[in-house]
Amino acid sequence: MVEHEAVPLWLSTFSRFATFSLMNTSEPLVIVNHVEKVYATGQRTVAALRGVSLEMLAGEFVALMGPSGCGKSTLLHLLGGMDRPTHGRVVIGGTELATLSETALAQFRRRRVGFIFQFFNLLPTLTVLENAALPLMLDGVSDHEAQERAMVLLERVGLHTRASHFPAELSGGEMQRVAVARAVISKPALILADEPTGSLDSENGRQVMALLRELNHELGLTIVLATHDDEAARFAGRIIRLRDGMIEQESRNVAIR
Ligand code: ADP
Repeated sequence: MVEHEAVPLWLSTFSRFATFSLMNTSEPLVIVNHVEKVYATGQRTVAALRGVSLEMLAGEFVALMGPSGCGKSTLLHLLGGMDRPTHGRVVIGGTELATLSETALAQFRRRRVGFIFQFFNLLPTLTVLENAALPLMLDGVSDHEAQERAMVLLERVGLHTRASHFPAELSGGEMQRVAVARAVISKPALILADEPTGSLDSENGRQVMALLRELNHELGLTIVLATHDDEAARFAGRIIRLRDGMIEQESRNVAIR
């Protein structure tokens, strides 16, 4: 007999608002094909990525690891449509990003991708609730609905009692949990997290990673994490190691389903 897990209240409320933008496709959610990225600064050029190919399925939690300067952030930026490759293809949910106009790419970033940064990037003059609701408000959702959805997520991340506080009144770990709520609120296809534990102590870092892991399960979120923190990478199901702009090694974390 199949046992049905009870759907938590926050999840059924959150799911009511919009369908997940997983983008119907039988292909992998992410396809990176022979990608190269060369930065030209003055007379110097830096080859940040030198022929990277990989695929990710919807629902995967992948850690990109490697020493500083190996190309992790560059790859995240290309996946998020924040930059374009010099050569090669990046296809997300069946759409090749190079075919999108600047306007379409901006919409892709707003609706399909949720970003989590090392230094949280919350807006100091907005409340916790407004920060979490911001992506929806920028996308034209009414303030009422945006804030109702934000409140559900703040409850999920344990910060609903701090909704009217300002970021400066929160600890680093709390700020990062607000940033997680903000990243998830548009129900994006892809969450990109760049060193999300980099400015947290180990206990808060562990809590933020556990939260990402839970949301990966609960919402079927696809998460790509760039980190050089072994503790953080343990929460991912798959680890891709980069060195000098190339994939050096790939492994699966057997401890994680
Ligand atoms: P990581 O995230 O692994 O630390 P990055 O992707 O930030 O690595 O950087 C890869 C390489 O590309 C480094 O040598 C870095 O100095 C260079 N780089 C990154 N961004 C730029 C940029 N905007 N202009 C010039 N060089 C850059």
